[in-house]
Order: sequence, then structure tokens, then C-alpha cells
Amino acid sequence: MLDQIFFNGVIQTMDDNETIYEAIGLKDGKIAFLGSSLEALELEALAGHDLQGKLVLPGFMDTHLHILEYAVSKITAPFFDCASPEEVVARGQVFAREKGPYRGWLLGWGWNQNLFTGEQRFVTRADLDLVSTELPVVYTRVCGHIAVANSVAMERILQMEEAKKVSAYIDAETGVLQESAAFLHKLLLEPLTEEAVIQLMTMGQADLNREGITSIHSTDFMGMPDGAWRQVVGAMEAMDRAQALTVRVYEQCLFNTPEEFEGFLEAGYTTGVGSAFFRIGPLKLFSDGSLGARTALLSAPYSDDPGTTGIQSFEKEELRAFMALAESRGMQVAVHAIGDGAIDLTVTLLEELVKARGSANGHLNPLRHGIIHAQLTTQVLLEKMRRAELLAYIQPVFVPSDMGIVEARIGRERMDKVYAWKTMRDMGIRTAGSSDAPVESFSVVENIYAAVERCDFSGEPDGGWLPEEKLSVMEAVRLFTSDAAYVSFDEASLGTLEVGKLADLVVLDRNLFELTGRELLEAKVAMTLVGGRVVYEAGEV
Ligand SMILES: [Zn+2]
Repeated sequence: MLDQIFFNGVIQTMDDNETIYEAIGLKDGKIAFLGSSLEALELEALAGHDLQGKLVLPGFMDTHLHILEYAVSKITAPFFDCASPEEVVARGQVFAREKGPYRGWLLGWGWNQNLFTGEQRFVTRADLDLVSTELPVVYTRVCGHIAVANSVAMERILQMEEAKKVSAYIDAETGVLQESAAFLHKLLLEPLTEEAVIQLMTMGQADLNREGITSIHSTDFMGMPDGAWRQVVGAMEAMDRAQALTVRVYEQCLFNTPEEFEGFLEAGYTTGVGSAFFRIGPLKLFSDGSLGARTALLSAPYSDDPGTTGIQSFEKEELRAFMALAESRGMQVAVHAIGDGAIDLTVTLLEELVKARGSANGHLNPLRHGIIHAQLTTQVLLEKMRRAELLAYIQPVFVPSDMGIVEARIGRERMDKVYAWKTMRDMGIRTAGSSDAPVESFSVVENIYAAVERCDFSGEPDGGWLPEEKLSVMEAVRLFTSDAAYVSFDEASLGTLEVGKLADLVVLDRNLFELTGRELLEAKVAMTLVGGRVVYEAGEV
């Protein structure tokens, strides 16, 4: 007796042969049957659903986002569409009045001077003093690598011991905080409790399920005081025990210092430790910033600011120390690198790591180390990545956001192989899809559209940006299913629909594989199941 049977649908299994069935049966949280609707009628099941031609895919997996930051961004002031510093201030004032502070601070996220219609300047301390002269205020730029503080916040930040080490990134006059300094204020928030994490996670996972997402690789210890990872891990483990998680979480673990990381390892944690719903993923490291803020590390100066090549987040030796610790416990490593300078540095270091371990089962890189973002690549860098079998965690949805600034930042002549998703795949570099939410929306449908069309959401530019790097719908769906499962060593249990695998699935109201252009954006998630349990349903299926 099956628990549930779905029939009369298009079940795209995403297996190697792209096998399609009409019906799928589930039992005990796993896939127990795949076949025709006729065969399905012969089977007994506790519940049956007529799919009426809808598309079923393996549940979507997002291989890099920040789910707790996403949830925090929902309860902090959103400035994503503000057209001027004045609008940021006005909205911030309303938000402060209506919602009050979060853990003692007025926080905001999402302003982007590139979208300002007048002068394209950063928001400043003087602007934020108009929001409050009593409470500390920090508004983070959309990229997350730049923030601006009001006078109260700046005063508190400057008193911190940690601030002295990064004083080069703090401009007390304008209030602008860059890179590691942009996270300092988070250490001053009232402490994050396990209950608070559970609240944030509960809010975040409901939104993920609504987009058909059933697994995430999430970076959550960022910008927290030393040791605060314990609250996050404790909260996730508590939710797991209570069977309250509705997404599978693979934690990308980020630490302030090698000492803090050692404490984590000594507590017995390393990649793979955990359960089917909460597991420790890779050590997450940063090697540079973002392109929008001109903090991505380039090998030569920015075209639109010849005075800078960006920012290297950690010294080479610091990165090496972190990586050596990870290697000593067989821990996977994932490094944020956007600029060609940062990618070069990261590939060199990861190649050392790969060589130190040696190949296993025919794989040069058995721990599956990889690069998160890998945007400003060159043919030479791509060759190096392929040679070391490094993974690329890519964000197609960055294309519509970034395509308007790439040429200004690096110039046409350096754009030969950037955001080169198709080239990567054709070269045999393993790629997996992600959103980096809350930097971008985690709508997988939007991400697939961006990968396939390489256009903004109004369909511009005609024919797509760097169109030779467009992916097929099949390739784009693989980024968020089968290819994503590989990153977390889940290829035997997730990523495709096969008998015996976990019953994580998404039902879409129309067949993505028959859509082109902006039609793709019209696809809606009708139902999401995790381990056979319905965690989201748009209406009657
Ligand atoms: Zn990120």
C-alpha cells in the first residue's frame, strides 16, 4: 500500500536519460513507484492526486544562500528599489516608527546607488542621522559588503577592539563601512538566542517551500560573535529533533578566526555530521568582495576606478591556515571568489589542497572543494579550475542584476569568458545553481529564466547578454536538481526521481520544457513535498 500516488502528470526524473513517467508513488518518505497512469491505477494508495498534466521535478536545491540573513532582511527595512538616498531615509523613518529596533538596532538592507536616479552616491552617516539620533542605525548595501552607520552606531563601532584592525575600511566621516568592517555592528546586537534562530528559520523555510525548494546550502554564522555558531547549530538540531524542518539544510560554516574554527572541529563537527535534515557542509571562506561595490579582487585595476583593484578579504597565509585545518578533518571547502584576482588566488590554494589529499576513486578532488560565484573568469582560470576538478557554485540570477555594470567595471576586452556558465559546463566543470539570497531572490523559476535567456525580467537586451553562454532549460534545471545534489554528496538519495530515493519533489503548474522567453517566468509552484510530506500547496492539485 502506497502512501500517495500522483498520476496523469509529466514526471521528469532528471536521470541521465531524462526519463519521463506519468505517475509517481511514495511510501515512507521515499519514491516507491514510477510508471504510467494505467499502471498507477492498479496500485493501492492512501491518497491519490490527479496532476492534470502538471510537471513534477526533483525538489529544488539552492547551493548557496543565507537563510537566516534572508529572514532578518524580512524584518529589517528593505531598500532594494529605492531611487535616492532621500527615499532610503524616508522609508527607514517609517519602518523605525512601525516596527522598532531588531535586537536593539535599526537595521536596513538593499540600497544600491546604481539604481539612484539622481546623483549615484553612497548613503551617508548624515543621511542616517535623520532616521535616529538616539538608536544605532546601520543600512547595508545590496551586495552585503558595504554598510553605512549613523553617528550613534559609528561611535559604538569605533570603540570596538575589532574595529582597530580594520580601520582602513572605516570612514568615520561618511559613515561608510567596507568588507569585514561592514559586519562589525552585528557583534554589538543584543545576543542571538536559539529561540530567535528557530523563529527566523521557521519564517525562512516557509518562503523556500513556496518556491519549490527542498534543500539549501546555507551560510549562517556570518558576522556573528565568536562561538555564536553554537546557537545556530543548536537551534537547527532542536528543530530537526522536533521534525520541524521543512527544508534539508547543509550548513556552509564560516568562522571569524582559525581558533574559532578549531573549537568547532573539537566539538566533533565536520562535513557530513548530522542527519537527513541538518548536516554540516563545507568550511566557507571569503577571498574578496563584490563587483557592484568594486571590492571584487581584480588582477588589474577597475576600468571605472583605476585607483583600485578591489579588496582581498584574507591574507593568503590566513586562508591557507583555515584550509589546512579543514583538510586535517576531511572537511569540504567552499570559497567566495568573484574577481579574476580572487579566483586565481583561490584556485591556486585549492589546487594545493587537492594535491595534498591525493585522488580517490578516480576523483582528483574527492572532498568536492569549490568556488562560490566564479564570475570574472578567463579561459586560463577555467582551465585551472577544470584541471583541479573544482566545483563552481553559480548564480544565473546575478546576470540580470550585473549585466549593466560589468562592462563599466572591467571593460569589454576582459569580458571574453565571464559569467561563463555554458563554457564551464561544456568544459566539464561541475556547476551547481544558487541565489545568494537575500542578495537576490531565491525564486528558482527566475534563476532558470536568467540562465536560459540571460535577460532582465522585461526581456532586455534582445537576444540576451553574452548569449553564447545561455543554457538550455534542461541544463538550467540540472543546476538546481541533479548537479546540486552532487555538491552535498547527495547524488545517491536526492537530485533525481528514482525508486528508493527520498521523496522530495516540486509540482509546477506548467511544463517548463515547453516554454521560452518570458513565458518561463509564468510557471508557478503548485506543490512542494519533502520526504513525502506536503510542505506547500498552492491550491487543489
Ligand atoms: Zn553569499
